[in-house]
Order: sequence, then structure tokens, then C-alpha cells
Amino acid sequence: MFKKILVANRGEIALRIQRACRELGIKAVMVYSEADRDAKYVKLAEEAVCIGPAPSPQSYLNMPAIISAAEVTDAEAIHPGYGFLAENADFAERVEKSGFQFIGPTPESIRLMGDKVSAKQAMIRAGVPCVPGSDGELPDDPVQIRRIARGIGYPVIVKAAGGGGGRGMRVVHTEAALVNAVQMTKAEATAAFGNPAVYMEKFLQNPRHIEIQVLADKHKNAVYLGERDCSMQRRHQKVIEEGPAPGIPRKLIERIGERCVSACKKIGYRGAGTFEFLYENGEFYFIEMNTRVQVEHPVTEWITGVDIVRTQIMVAAGEKLPFTQRQIQIRGHAIECRINAEDPFRNFLPSTGRLVRFAPPEQNLFQGETGGRYGVRVDTGVYEGGEIPMFYDSMIAKLIVHGQDREDAVLRMRAALNGFVIRGISSNIPFQAALLAHPKFVSGDFNTGFIAEHYPHGFAAEDVQHEDPQFLVALAAYMHRRYRARASGISGQLAGHGVQVGEEFVVVTLGQGGENHYHDVTVTDFESDSGASTVQVGGKSYRITSSAHLGSICVQGACNGQGFTAQIERGTPKNPLVLRISHNGAQIDAIVLTPRRAELFKLMPYKAPPDLSKFLLSPMPGLLVDVAVEPGQRVQAGERLAVIEAMKMENVLFATQDGVVSKVVAGKGASLAVDQVILEFE
Ligand code: ADP
Repeated sequence: MFKKILVANRGEIALRIQRACRELGIKAVMVYSEADRDAKYVKLAEEAVCIGPAPSPQSYLNMPAIISAAEVTDAEAIHPGYGFLAENADFAERVEKSGFQFIGPTPESIRLMGDKVSAKQAMIRAGVPCVPGSDGELPDDPVQIRRIARGIGYPVIVKAAGGGGGRGMRVVHTEAALVNAVQMTKAEATAAFGNPAVYMEKFLQNPRHIEIQVLADKHKNAVYLGERDCSMQRRHQKVIEEGPAPGIPRKLIERIGERCVSACKKIGYRGAGTFEFLYENGEFYFIEMNTRVQVEHPVTEWITGVDIVRTQIMVAAGEKLPFTQRQIQIRGHAIECRINAEDPFRNFLPSTGRLVRFAPPEQNLFQGETGGRYGVRVDTGVYEGGEIPMFYDSMIAKLIVHGQDREDAVLRMRAALNGFVIRGISSNIPFQAALLAHPKFVSGDFNTGFIAEHYPHGFAAEDVQHEDPQFLVALAAYMHRRYRARASGISGQLAGHGVQVGEEFVVVTLGQGGENHYHDVTVTDFESDSGASTVQVGGKSYRITSSAHLGSICVQGACNGQGFTAQIERGTPKNPLVLRISHNGAQIDAIVLTPRRAELFKLMPYKAPPDLSKFLLSPMPGLLVDVAVEPGQRVQAGERLAVIEAMKMENVLFATQDGVVSKVVAGKGASLAVDQVILEFE
């Protein structure tokens, strides 16, 4: 076994590998960029080396810097994690030529599978079913391109051979759009992946994304570890992953799993890998293979009990797989939600800055202790008070639950999302909560088109309908009663002169634009010891108990005998009296008043916020890479105005209404802060 491994990655996966090393008694060296100096994985490292400035080409993609870090620290092997150099065959080759073991497959396997065209050809040879498509790379000749598309049948999808991360793909519905789409994909592929080759596939209309996890050693042993369903995608990027895949007969999984294992043996594959398939009408179609550990590997770890990262290291050191296919049993159901630093209500724009609060739900399952059952695991590389840099991926945590069955796992995930407190930056938790509450998701009836179909115009607060909105109102009244009880219990009051707490209240829920709703409630049977009371609202009765500390955002308790977790904050920047209540993705801002005060409140004039519609503001900090308009130019709603680069993504800002540009305030190349003015309109 190795004595020391260098981890060529950052964030949660660097920590994950660090942990696996610790369990195996191996020393782990971390590498970091200047932006990650205070990152958690660096703080917890026994040894860490700075490999360059913040931009990844100068640090995490800087091969000579990484290899010299391995040299100076006397590491024997390099674990690439996922992303960055993990699927770069030249890197694997340089690592091995420099005398280190690459923890992953051979450079030949990476090269073969890294090019999606050669991967498909190899799979066809190995007897793995593929999506019907062009026979290899597309030629330049438009006539031939059209002929190929006609042969496949529309709609088709044009894909970059070197593509990844959901980029470099274009769906084409008509022949008229074909040649232009091919040219655009080529241009994009050249710019993004340095490889202009593109190919064509039949575009499946309602497929599910099902993938098979494999592990292979250097002694010709290979196994598959069941499947994951990653159909919940936004713009071809995974949002939720789970296993086993709901509703697919085990026999079919076994058959495709065995095909994957035999393909591994045919190509001499070693290490961890994933065969990705589209699944439609009972058939599997291979799309690509990932020759590395995946973001969603914890799903498989819980349902099989196999520690994938530890096994990766063991087989790289030459050990045999410690289990056979027969020993792999699937137990229970696991779901992973990717928690991203992005604002779902602002078209998922990335969010960077300081994590003022970061309190994941309580964990009882931990990385590397895959024998544990049923509960919550959180893989994250960030911490409260830490900064989210703008240079890297927006994923800040992975929330994984394991339950007895799918229904149990869904309930556990909903509770875990309710209990995940993130403040200071925006996160996609409300969106995840809405997905988890969607009846179609709950029933297991969804495919890769789900998010585009159900949220065609993005995600808005109205998209989250709480199944019982009055529960939120009751919760506001309940919390108010507890605050009042505390106020009345504060000593120093003369008997009979303390705060009087009545039983009748009006909960005012504040709507945008000043339209408020008034709910008459009564709060009775208050027990100061247990913190229980009964709230009546709209003809419904809620007996709520909670021993949550007043002032803690996360509130756990029971309502009519059923457990709940919600988030409650007192005071918003605009109004210190407001109670902000979030539960199952829904959120209300409420003020709880006596009936008399509620009457007075109705008379208060509404002060509208300033009109910012005449400005284009930067929604995030980042680099202004393009301004697409000039002063005097007339623009239409939906037209491209500017492009901001942040978190590895180019974010295009579009006009939300028709207008005329009067002034370009920030120029190309400007470094923008949040809400900085870019353009002014007449
Ligand atoms: P990447 O390497 O960028 O992740 P993939 O080839 O794995 O690209 O595809 C990512 C996603 O794009 C798939 O999960 C699926 O949702 C969609 N997709 C890819 N190919 C097709 C296809 N032929 N038909 C329908 N959807 C597809």
C-alpha cells in the first residue's frame, strides 16, 4: 500500500479522499490555489502545497506544478478526484512517466473513453447498446451532414466529442437548422474543449439518465455496483441523483450491469468508472463513460456498503477487489441533492461571498463508514465564516440520505433540506425542496426533461405551493407566542405589570407590492414548560410543540403528533418585527399583531421600493466579459445585453423589457460587484 498520496483537487472531494487516506493509514498531501488558502480541506491537511494563483489553468490544471508538488513531498501516487485533470489522458501519462501511480485507469483507457466518438465505437464492439447516431465524427460537407441526419431521423442532437459538464450539445428539430447548428457546436467545442470534432445522435424525447458504477482491479476482476438514476437535470447537469432507479426491473439492471463488466474486461479497465445510459421504453442506450470517481458516488456507497474511494486507492496499489459480484447486495434507497451556491429565483445565477451561516442538518452517516444505515450524510468543503470563491464550481455541499425504501428516503431528504441553514449567499435549497415535494418526483415518474417541462421560465416563489399554507401561519403565531412568553417571563417586572399575552392575534402575511393577507388566529393552551400551544387558523387546529431554542434558525418540533423541521428568523433587513418562515421550499414573511394593532396596520401607507427598471444591475460579482449593446440602441425583451463570467460559467444577461440604451456605465473587462450598474435605459 502507498505511504503517501497527493490529491490533485479541491473542496469536498479533496476532503473525501483525505478521509479515505486517513482510514487506510496513508498520508495525504493537499494542493491549493491562492484562493483556497483558508479552505477546509487545506486547514485539515497534514501537509499542503500552494500550486499557484486562483484561476484553475494556473493551479488545479497546472500539470508541472502538481507533479513538482508530488516530487517535493515524496508522494507515491496522485488521486485526481473529479473535474480538473481527472479525465486528462496526458496528465495520467505524465504522472506515470514521472514515476507516480495515477489513481485511475490507464492513459489509454482514459483516451479511448474520453473521446465520446471512440468510446461509442468501443462500446459497440463490446456489445453495449448505444444511441443510434452518426458513424463517428461528422464530416464538413453539408450534403453529407443532412444525409446522416435524415438517416437517423429528427430530432437529432449534435454533440462535441470532447464535451463534458452538459456543455457542447445542441438539439436540432428541422433540416433547415441543421448545418448552422453543427457549425456552432464545432466553434463552441473548439473554444471550450480544444477539439472541434462533433458527432450526431438521435435525440431521445423522454429518456431517463441511468448510470452503472463499476470497479475493476489490475487482475482482471470487475464488478458493477448497481445503478443511479440522474434524470433530474437542469441544462443537462445533474441536480438530484438516487439509487436504485425507481421502477426499473432488476433483471434489466443485471443484464446491463453484466455488459458493463464485460466491457471493462475487454478494454482492460481498472479503477472506478461509470457507464452512462439513456433509458427509454425498457431499453438502455450508452452515451458516455466517466473514467473517474463521480460527484454522486455516495449514493452507491450507501446502497451497497462499498467505500468507492478507498477501493479506488487499494486497486491502484495493486490489490485485488475485496469482494465479488455475488457479495454486492443493494439495501434501502439513497438520494443525493447537490447544494449549489446559486440563486434559484434569479435564474440560478451563481452566488459568491461569505457564508455568514452554514449549518448542515445533523449527520449520523459519515464518509467511509458505509456500514451505517438510514440517515443523513453531508459531504462539503465549506464552513461557516468561510468565503465562496468565484473561480470554481458552484457546488458547495452534497446532501445524501439513506432510507429503508424510496418513500422513507424522500421524507428524510425533505426534513434534511428543511434543516440545512445557509445564509450570506443564496443556495438552491428552495428549488431542491420544491422538486422533492413535486408529486411526479415523489411518484418516481420523471425523465431528463422534467425540470425544463415544469419550470420552463425558471423558478419563482409561486412555483412552491405549500401543501398546507395555514401551517406556516400557525407556526408564525406559535413562535410569536413563545417570544411573548419569554418577554413576559423576564424578571424585574412588578407583579401585575408584566407583559400581558392575549390569546387572539392577527397574522399578517406580507405580499410583494404591499398586498397583505390578514389571518385571524387564536393561540391557546400554552404550556410554558414544554413550549406547546394550540393554534386555530382558518377552521383548522394545530397543536405545536418545540423545544427549539429561541433565536436558533432551525426549529424542530411536532405538529399534531407529526415531526417537522422549519427555519424561522426574526427580523429582516427592512423590518425587525417580521418573522420569516421557511418550510418545504415555501417561505412567508409575517407579522403577528393584536387585533387592535392589525386594524391600525391596515391604515399604514405602502412605500414602494425604488424603481430600478431603468438600470441593468450586475446580479453577482464577476468579470464583465462582453457588453453587447451601444448607447442609443433599441433593444427588445429577451435580447442579449451583457455577459458576466463567474464560477466557471458565462452568465448572459438578457433584456427583461423593450427599451433604448441611454448609457453604458461599466465597460468590457470591468470587475463587477453585486448590484453595480452596467447599463442605463431611457
Ligand atoms: P456530458 O458529458 O456533458 O455530461 P452526456 O453525453 O453525458 O454529456 O449527456 C448529458 C445529458 O444530456 C444526458 O444525461 C441527457 O439528459 C442529455 N442527452 C445527451 N444525449 C442525449 C440524446 N441522444 N438524447 C436525449 N438526451 C440526451
